[in-house]
Amino acid sequence: MTLDNYVMAGYPAIILTTPEEDRAINECTAIADKLNLEFWYWSVTEGLSTQSSSNTYRNSNSMNKIADPTQILKEGVKDLQRGSSGRLVCLLDFHAFIKSTNVWRTAKDVFKIAKTKGITFIFISANFEVPTELEREVIVTQIPLPTREEISALLEKMAEQNSIILPKNKNNIVEAALGLTINETENAFAVTISRSSNFDAKLISQVKEQIICNGGLLEYKSSNESLETIGGLKNFTSWAIERFSAYTPEAQEYGLPYPKGVLLVGIPGCGKSLSAKALSNIWQKPLLKLELGKLFGSLVGDTEANTRRALATAEAMAPAILWIDEIEKGLSGIQSSGKTDSGVTSRMFGTILTWLQEKEAPVFVIATANNINQLPPEFLRKGRFDEIFFVDLPDDKEREDIFDIQFKKHKRNPKMYDLVNLANITEGYTGAEIEEAVVSSMFTAWNDGQREPNDQDVIDAIYSINPMAKGIMKDQIEALRKWSVDSGISLASDNKNQSSSIPNTGRVIRTAEV
Ligand code: ATP
Repeated sequence: MTLDNYVMAGYPAIILTTPEEDRAINECTAIADKLNLEFWYWSVTEGLSTQSSSNTYRNSNSMNKIADPTQILKEGVKDLQRGSSGRLVCLLDFHAFIKSTNVWRTAKDVFKIAKTKGITFIFISANFEVPTELEREVIVTQIPLPTREEISALLEKMAEQNSIILPKNKNNIVEAALGLTINETENAFAVTISRSSNFDAKLISQVKEQIICNGGLLEYKSSNESLETIGGLKNFTSWAIERFSAYTPEAQEYGLPYPKGVLLVGIPGCGKSLSAKALSNIWQKPLLKLELGKLFGSLVGDTEANTRRALATAEAMAPAILWIDEIEKGLSGIQSSGKTDSGVTSRMFGTILTWLQEKEAPVFVIATANNINQLPPEFLRKGRFDEIFFVDLPDDKEREDIFDIQFKKHKRNPKMYDLVNLANITEGYTGAEIEEAVVSSMFTAWNDGQREPNDQDVIDAIYSINPMAKGIMKDQIEALRKWSVDSGISLASDNKNQSSSIPNTGRVIRTAEV
């Protein structure tokens, strides 16, 4: 829901958490204008200004002196002017006062009256800790990040001020700034002007990357991974590439819906993260990594605000891939959430689910999980994601490919090695363990006169590794495979000849229809 939806729905109190005070106030005045509401604005330094629906500010001297937060709350519900259909009362920095009993008690009383008169209080602060007593009385929301049009307008203004002639196609400059606030965009533009006397999309992207990382909620990932650096997982990668075509203007014209996203469940170290990175390069769109653990805040309302902020950033940067890594870890406390964390985890989960269901921006979600037991069943229900893939251990051919890839990745010539034999003796090894064997053989060779590693070095390294699939993860992997077969989950690989089963289990793995 957007801010004007809440106002139209008659919410008596809205908390607008945003670092962009000016934009928030502009947004509120625009809503007041549109809905023919009186607009009241208060800050502790400026006092109260009122604006009738005729659009002219009128400072009332008597009111202007109000510095007492309880008094301004009471003033806010005074009778409406004749002809007005309601009132918006914007209060700045109220987070500094709201914890006082006097203030929250007055707020609670006043909200009851506001509801009956069509009056909405909007509290604008960068951060707002909602007292428990008011949690059910208020709604916390944010203003959306700037649109392409707003960024474009700022770009033109700054170009004019700095006598810069913009290129005909300024889309890549605008796109580079998507996801930033107006202030941040202005700063990013200023950096590029001071460095290159022009607008440099690449530099703006770098500044954006830094800002997003500093925000701490999303991580901007870049890598050199490509289809060639993934061994196996062909079903998944070709499915994803096919889905990306839905984002083209032609597909939109044709009527293809935007994909919701995909859930990759599977064995750690088998290429889930690798494929997220490769797909972002193939699609040539930013990869934003979200770790749910980072969303948890210490203050009431923080976690939900963080969740909304992270999702809003991803939307503003669309088209983009949002990679939600190890999703089960962030949601593990959900069953007991009501008792242990006052429902914070389940509200965060609800926000994400609703967003997954309703998002309209071209954000392709790749969620990864190692353990399905910790995932809420709602997550696995059909329709949440377009597809769920099971990432199993690599089979013979895939292990051969992974050796080939890993030798190349670590500057070795794969032709120097007996890849078939190496693949044969690594049944039950993950891709990460194969990489570990290659790297370990290089250390051996380096310390033995800086020579090239040979087959025997790699074989020794392989036998020195205790693969997870035969050790700590054995039962979990069996359970994952059973779950994938029982629930008909598609295999990420196209290995019809599944021979990667953990040795000595005797279990036959069927390939699900894909
Ligand atoms: P986790 O769940 O622990 O994050 P993951 O499934 O995401 O594991 P990755 O991080 O993708 O696994 O794998 C770790 C590393 O192992 C990769 O960076 C890559 O070098 C190597 N690797 C794993 N699987 C493959 C594969 N299928 N092809 C090539 N390399 C692989």
